[in-house]
Amino acid sequence: MTETATNPTLAPNGVAASVEDLTKVYGKGDAEVRALDGVSLQIYSQQFTAVMGPSGSGKSTLMHCFAALDTVTSGTVVIGDTTLGSQKDKQLTRLRRDRIGFVFQSYNLVPTLTAEENILLPLSIAGRKPDKEWYDTVIEAVALRDRLDHRPNELSGGQQQRVAVARALASKPAIVFADEPTGNLDSRSGAEVLQLLQRSVDEFGQTVVMVTHDPVAAGYTDRVIFLADGRVVEEMQDPTAERVLERMTLFTQPAAATARPDDADDADDADDAAGTTDEAGA
Ligand code: ADP
Ligand code: MG
Repeated sequence: MTETATNPTLAPNGVAASVEDLTKVYGKGDAEVRALDGVSLQIYSQQFTAVMGPSGSGKSTLMHCFAALDTVTSGTVVIGDTTLGSQKDKQLTRLRRDRIGFVFQSYNLVPTLTAEENILLPLSIAGRKPDKEWYDTVIEAVALRDRLDHRPNELSGGQQQRVAVARALASKPAIVFADEPTGNLDSRSGAEVLQLLQRSVDEFGQTVVMVTHDPVAAGYTDRVIFLADGRVVEEMQDPTAERVLERMTLFTQPAAATARPDDADDADDADDAAGTTDEAGA
């Protein structure tokens, strides 16, 4: 478990990001929710890592804490050689802008801007020009060359999500976090996005961390981290969809029995583990 996470033989390219004894508590008193309960984890450079677990297990919270989109209650977050807690707001904004890419499940594209303007928006805000060669590589990889003038509502779900991935990659960030990037996509569009993320790791040396419910999506990655109740409970190297599905099925039954009463979504997770997806068909 966490022991394998610190095994140096599994980290040929070093550590791109890590958290140490991370906790995140939302609310106070009776309303208190311990979304993360002592997570220690290293993300290796130039690897594609999946984060899986039932609804409410803390996956999004972990991504947000890693990407400095949310504050932590205790523990440390390190991106590259920078410990986030030690940053002032301005430095944090810059770190987020220059070194972290984030892909939201709901794309978060600006509807009035074209695909190209969306992709270049973070760089424009930073007052930076794109590295032409890298930009071309990214546009080729997302296969959107002939869609660059289109606005989001003129693009399919898969195309919009590929724009969102291109936006996250355009600044060549040290690490990309993607929170269920294929959650709203049909299987074909999902496969396009997964292949793109996989290529960005294998060919371009990016580091990508992706939250997913889908064992098939996890099968594209190098390593799966399983969360339950805000803790890392297991990890798997070189996963296949079959092995992930098997592991999820094992987890879901005991986890459902001990679920907290506020986890109204757990019934859905049993379906997810059984290989049915409720969000496909976009
Ligand atoms: P996941 O992404 O695995 O479904 P989340 O990280 O979104 O889980 O949520 C973990 C837990 O924290 C859940 O119980 C959720 O209800 C709670 N939570 C998440 N965000 C907030 C928030 N902003 N305020 C209060 N509780 C929250
Ligand atoms: Mg989530």
